[in-house]
Amino acid sequence: MKLMSYWLDTVPAFAGGTTAPVGGKADVVIVGAGLTGTSAALTLAKKGASVVVCEADVVGGEASGRNGGMCNNGFAQDYRIMAARFGNEQANQLYRAFDAGVDMVERLVREEDIDCSFARTGKLKLAARPEHYDKLARTQEELARQVDPDTRMVSRAELAGEVGTDRFHGGLIFEKGAGLHVGRFVRGLADAAARRGVQFHEATPVTGIRKTGAGTYEVATRRGKIEAGQVLLASGISSVGPLGWFRRRIIPVGSFLIATEPLPPEQLDRIMPRRRMATDTKNIVNYFRVLPDNRLLFGGRARFAVSDPKSDMKSGAILRESMLDVFPELAGARIDYCWGGMVDMTRDRLPRAGQRKDGLYYSMGYSGHGTQMATYMGTVMAEVMDGNVDLNPWRDFDWPAIPGHFGKPWFLPIVGAYYRLQDRLK
Ligand SMILES: Cc1cc2nc3c(=O)[nH]c(=O)nc-3n(C[C@H](O)[C@H](O)[C@H](O)COP(=O)(O)OP(=O)(O)OC[C@H]3O[C@@H](n4cnc5c(N)ncnc54)[C@H](O)[C@@H]3O)c2cc1C
Repeated sequence: MKLMSYWLDTVPAFAGGTTAPVGGKADVVIVGAGLTGTSAALTLAKKGASVVVCEADVVGGEASGRNGGMCNNGFAQDYRIMAARFGNEQANQLYRAFDAGVDMVERLVREEDIDCSFARTGKLKLAARPEHYDKLARTQEELARQVDPDTRMVSRAELAGEVGTDRFHGGLIFEKGAGLHVGRFVRGLADAAARRGVQFHEATPVTGIRKTGAGTYEVATRRGKIEAGQVLLASGISSVGPLGWFRRRIIPVGSFLIATEPLPPEQLDRIMPRRRMATDTKNIVNYFRVLPDNRLLFGGRARFAVSDPKSDMKSGAILRESMLDVFPELAGARIDYCWGGMVDMTRDRLPRAGQRKDGLYYSMGYSGHGTQMATYMGTVMAEVMDGNVDLNPWRDFDWPAIPGHFGKPWFLPIVGAYYRLQDRLK
């Protein structure tokens, strides 16, 4: 079993970077080369800006290359909760931003000819308990009436046509949802940006950012300093560099994944006949899908823990049990991959993006819904930095620090215990 991301193991290393020292001037410096940073770099370069991207690790090495590869529309939270908070009109606008995110991914795949198996297979949200089905049905009714007619319920009796297990009590289908090989996508975006002149520096953590007297920024890295007219922090969950302000606002939550050996197509036709992107309704959620080479990916929060190889192994064992609970016929399937990553959760599970008082731009906090939203927001932030501030759907959202959170989420085990109890009770 490989303790590494399936996506990163099955994509060629990014070849468009430079090993030259960091120096000189650029219109824009971007911190981080995940989906936010690469999509922003591509859009800014198309606008004619000179762009330098500094990445602490490798292109797509963190969340963007370690996730479930699900590119779904819809909120992280129940639509009805969002409508109660914002009113239908604003909730619908925000919901449409996620639709636009999926459309944007599809458009970029086509325009840049990125070979990443993008397919609109739809998302299936599975009711883990009978009462969850009723809740999903009420949400779907509201969704269809308000904003998303491409949703529908599947009863428990009809579920066999969707997923080969009797573990669930029906589900909600979002037809707009898609899946892709996210490693190929993020590296494809970086390739497209590099072709347009963007300079990528991998293994180059940004260690300091200082405003100069001339209104520009001096960005310090371990490989030199560069002067930037504008800076975009596309740094997600960051444990390096001068980003403490964000660490106090984002909760890093471990999420873990396993992937089986390639399975016979006839077995996949039995267990996942429609190849949907599936998630369940538990607080400690599980999600699963078929990978481009016929493996089953099975992921979830498993434990409220950080991701590192030892932790990933422990979580992988729990995930295998959960997978067998859903699909007992996979008992003999070998597990070929096990990995994890840190999800960038905000308190209300909505992204934050904009410009800080010191002039730095940022976009992050996608709360597990970043494949589409990070790609979308990278593109949007390029527009915002060009003066089109109104395009940012999250522009009016305040972002106070989380009380008692100083960067290391000591409270996660308590939250985990609470959610486990909730899952047992309802
Ligand atoms: C296990 C897991 C499963 C997920 N599943 C899904 C899913 O199926 N669907 C979905 O929509 N979303 C999912 N998500 C969320 C999604 O992956 C993220 O929201 C999205 O990738 C965030 O992209 P990003 O570019 O903002 O951040 P990242 O991909 O984390 O990129 C940020 C980059 O910044 C770099 N960086 C940080 N600090 C510095 C510094 N000081 N200097 C230089 N570089 C720095 C990091 O090395 C990193 O590469 C999942 C996340 C995880 C972890």
